[in-house]
Amino acid sequence: MFENLREQPADKILALMQMYRDDPRTDKIDLGVGVYKNAEGITPVMRAVKAAEQRIWETQETKAYTGLAGDPAYADAMIGLILGDSVARGNVAAVATPGGTGACRQAFELIRMANPAARVFVSDPTWPNHLSILKYLGIETVPYRYFDSETRGVNFDGMIEDLKTARAGDVVLLHGCCHNPTGANLNSVEWQAVIDLINENGLVAMIDIAYQGFGDGLEEDAKATRLVAASVKECMIAASCSKNFGVYRERTGLLMAISADAGQTGLNQQTLAFLNRQNYSFPPDHGARVVTEILTDDALRADWAAELENVRLSMLGLRQNLADELQRLTGSDRFAFIAQHRGMFSRIGTSPELVERLRTEHGIYMVGDSRMNIAGLNDVTVPILAKAIVDVGV
Ligand code: PLP
Repeated sequence: MFENLREQPADKILALMQMYRDDPRTDKIDLGVGVYKNAEGITPVMRAVKAAEQRIWETQETKAYTGLAGDPAYADAMIGLILGDSVARGNVAAVATPGGTGACRQAFELIRMANPAARVFVSDPTWPNHLSILKYLGIETVPYRYFDSETRGVNFDGMIEDLKTARAGDVVLLHGCCHNPTGANLNSVEWQAVIDLINENGLVAMIDIAYQGFGDGLEEDAKATRLVAASVKECMIAASCSKNFGVYRERTGLLMAISADAGQTGLNQQTLAFLNRQNYSFPPDHGARVVTEILTDDALRADWAAELENVRLSMLGLRQNLADELQRLTGSDRFAFIAQHRGMFSRIGTSPELVERLRTEHGIYMVGDSRMNIAGLNDVTVPILAKAIVDVGV
């Protein structure tokens, strides 16, 4: 049987991580994988996470199974964090999932189950794993224009033009905030126009929100997701706690299915739980319990929000410093977009050849599509990167 296996395409980001590890240069700079790092290059355990883990260690009396949907208290806490009071709880079905990836995977399975003819419209570019999982599940994807390589902002007219080709029942996958890989995001007027189009053409919205708190703040970053959830007939939201709680390896995510008709919620909930059962039965609990502990305790929550805000501000500072340094070196504003992008990433919009030269000549690792992880920088490496960018002629 195994002789029938064929080698699967390597994940480009994971391959880049390996190349970085194998590079003997001591001054190499890793701007590849999407993990937050502080100025010392460490991905720290957040203070509130440590405190919550200690409490759980002291008080947890069993590790028996939770429910198929995970702990309802986790769903309540996360729904509150993401949706605020934009949608009544009775309209929201939700299950815990292994990370945001698990939430996306379960959402795609839900789409295939509910409407096998549905196509999923994905931004060009999008997080590569969206495409990979959709392909694996045999779901047709249709790219919509998103990144404008001239302005490094959103090509909104192109996006709308492409979304107009969607048929009723097709799904539009949107990034709730901090678009990965580009860092370019819709403004509130544009979000409203996308919602109008979804409603006019009978499309289904799906939001992937993996960076709440990394862009403009916890509340601000949830605004678009809340607007969509409150305005459409039905939508799915795949959320990740990996980045904003720093619990990457705990695999902590949530999938919501929201219907404007609350009478549908029971069936939605039952179906989501069924899908969990088919794929892995009970979802992981530890990370979810940590998140619940933090979100339901005023002091822990405040401390977590404060630490997250520092992370956000440090990334904004790095963005501004890099844009300023490039302005200084080039005497032009053509890199100002770096300070305008939001989240952990910016796509600098250059060719794979120049990305390759940054790596070979300067030991700077970024993804081939020229996505760089802003959090991989610090005050020492910002000027080094700026000089290298100018050097290779980006
Ligand atoms: N969605 C997007 C857009 C992401 O960038 C990521 C992680 O990189 C995820 C989902 C999934 O995150 P995880 O499965 O690690 O929680």
